[in-house]
Amino acid sequence: MKLVMKFGGVSVADGDKMRRVGALVRKYEKDGHRLVIITSAMFSVTDSLNEVARKVSKGDKKAVHDFVEALHARHRKAAETAIKDERVLDRTLIVLNTRMDELKNILLGIAHIGELTPRSRDFVVGYGEKLSAPVLQGALEDLGLKSKALTGGEVGIVTDSRYGDASPLMSVTTHQVKENLDRLLEDGVIPVVCGFIGSTQDGVQTTLGRGGSDYTASIIGAAIKADEVWVWKDVDGLMTANPKFVKSAKMIQKISFAEAMELAHFGAEVIHPRALECAAKYHIPFRVKSLNDPDGKGTVIEAEVKVKSGDVVKAITNINDVSVITVSGASMVGTPRLAAKVLQILTDEDVDVLMISQSSSEESITLAIPKASGSKAQNALELSLLGSKEVREVKVEDGLSIVAVVGAGMKGTPGVAARVFGTMAQKEVNIRAIAQGSSELNISFIVKKEDARKAIEALHDDFKLGE
Ligand code: ASP
Ligand code: MG
Repeated sequence: MKLVMKFGGVSVADGDKMRRVGALVRKYEKDGHRLVIITSAMFSVTDSLNEVARKVSKGDKKAVHDFVEALHARHRKAAETAIKDERVLDRTLIVLNTRMDELKNILLGIAHIGELTPRSRDFVVGYGEKLSAPVLQGALEDLGLKSKALTGGEVGIVTDSRYGDASPLMSVTTHQVKENLDRLLEDGVIPVVCGFIGSTQDGVQTTLGRGGSDYTASIIGAAIKADEVWVWKDVDGLMTANPKFVKSAKMIQKISFAEAMELAHFGAEVIHPRALECAAKYHIPFRVKSLNDPDGKGTVIEAEVKVKSGDVVKAITNINDVSVITVSGASMVGTPRLAAKVLQILTDEDVDVLMISQSSSEESITLAIPKASGSKAQNALELSLLGSKEVREVKVEDGLSIVAVVGAGMKGTPGVAARVFGTMAQKEVNIRAIAQGSSELNISFIVKKEDARKAIEALHDDFKLGE
């Protein structure tokens, strides 16, 4: 099979882990598969790059030196642990030196100018992958494999210039990626591609948004028409509920792209939603595999998954810490534009709206957002709306959770909502707001944070997901 395998930051967090990845890759290559590897930055590196870029843009030149030293030491150590062969190690260390110098120079530039543009930020934060990929290449070579590390630009991923959240231009990208990778695969070389980064048509580095390495895997999978994309995790595949909450939670064997996207939206931080969208569009099956059980099948995400009768609900998921904003005012009635305005204000502030519900009297609109954005959202809404006559009050409430019941089998099955809310009534869980996607793939509702666990356990039981 032609397989694209993506390893996340935790899986390549140090030299030992990279070696473990190498051993796994070697096993699949010996079994006769053709492989393309996508790697994330080593765990927490992207965060630290973001942080240092912000810091040095305020003129903190000293921070540059300390940061680059520490980052260099961490990668050098990983290389020394993962690579025994001296020639391979030397070559890897030279690549690291060069990249570190580049990074240092750009950070000093930012410190001197005292300005961090979206373009220069993308240049900096993409270095995590530009440093991890050569080390992983070395780890593979050390195990006797032929390998070559490539940046997003080198492999041929061309994007628009929306820095921080770029999208690939798929037709050029497909053409270039296919040409570059097919040649390497024919020569028996295992490409190690930096996740997360691409390049504009003018060759300027862009990033695909946080968590974007999954997206890189789908883009590459689509371009080379891979048989499957595998995303390796340190946890089990997709679960019927968060195992921290529900002891009997089970791994889901098969799930559709649409269902998986609902799960991703409602807090199951498994796969980047754009990665799923891309794989779905190009009909590439996506598999979540567990490093703890490498021979297990994991969870397959596919276009069409047959719904077995009686199999209404796939999973219960939750977002633990949300704020609920209620915008109310009597004269909101019949002013549909206001709902649009509210959403626009939140979009401009980069607030992720998780759920919306409007009272049928149109007297108020209720939105759930991540708690971290609560005060930012309230400020922006008050500033823009309280002056207008339409709005009387913007109220924010914390300490809440969203619980979402997800499954394609809910579509056209009457009584699912009644059953969900019946169970909640029985457990005396008070429900604050409800929303159902028109796709009927989910029913989501808001409860007090301290009730969330009880609600999830009861629903998991009631729909017999642990069996
Ligand atoms: N390193 C990037 C991030 O932390 C991309 C990824 O890991 O998927 O967001
Ligand atoms: Mg990720």
